[in-house]
Amino acid sequence: MDSMHEWALAEAIVETAYSFLSERKTRKIISLNVVIGILQSADREVLKFALTELFKSRGIEVGELRLDEEEALLRCRSCSKTWRLGDLDLSDDVREAVHFIPEVIHAYVKCPNCNSQDLEIVSGRGIYIASMEL
Ligand SMILES: [Zn+2]
Repeated sequence: MDSMHEWALAEAIVETAYSFLSERKTRKIISLNVVIGILQSADREVLKFALTELFKSRGIEVGELRLDEEEALLRCRSCSKTWRLGDLDLSDDVREAVHFIPEVIHAYVKCPNCNSQDLEIVSGRGIYIASMEL
C-alpha cells in the first residue's frame, strides 16, 4: 500500500507547527485543527495516523487533533461566477473521478451560468492548519 502521499502532507503540517512552536519555546499544543480539501486525494485515517506519529517523533504533545474537510469552490474565468462543487448535479462516477484527479474537472464540469469550461479551482485542493491552540 502506498501511503507516501499522506506522510508527505503530514510532514508539511508538522514542519509548520514545529517552527511555530520553536519560536514560542514550547512543545505542547492543546488543540490543532487541520483542514484538508475534498479534492486532495488522501486517506484520512492514514493522514491522521501519520500526523500523530510525526508529532510524537518530534517530541510535540498534541491534546486534540481534528481533521476537517473543506468544500471545493470553483470559479468561472469567463463570467466570474463562483460555486461549490457540491452544488452541481454530478454522477457518482464523475464525482469520484474528480476527487482522485482534480484536473478532470475541466473535462466534466461546466459553468452553471455560461457553460464555459474555463474554470479554476479556488479551494478544496490544499491542506493547512486552520487553528492551533497552545
Ligand atoms: Zn461562467
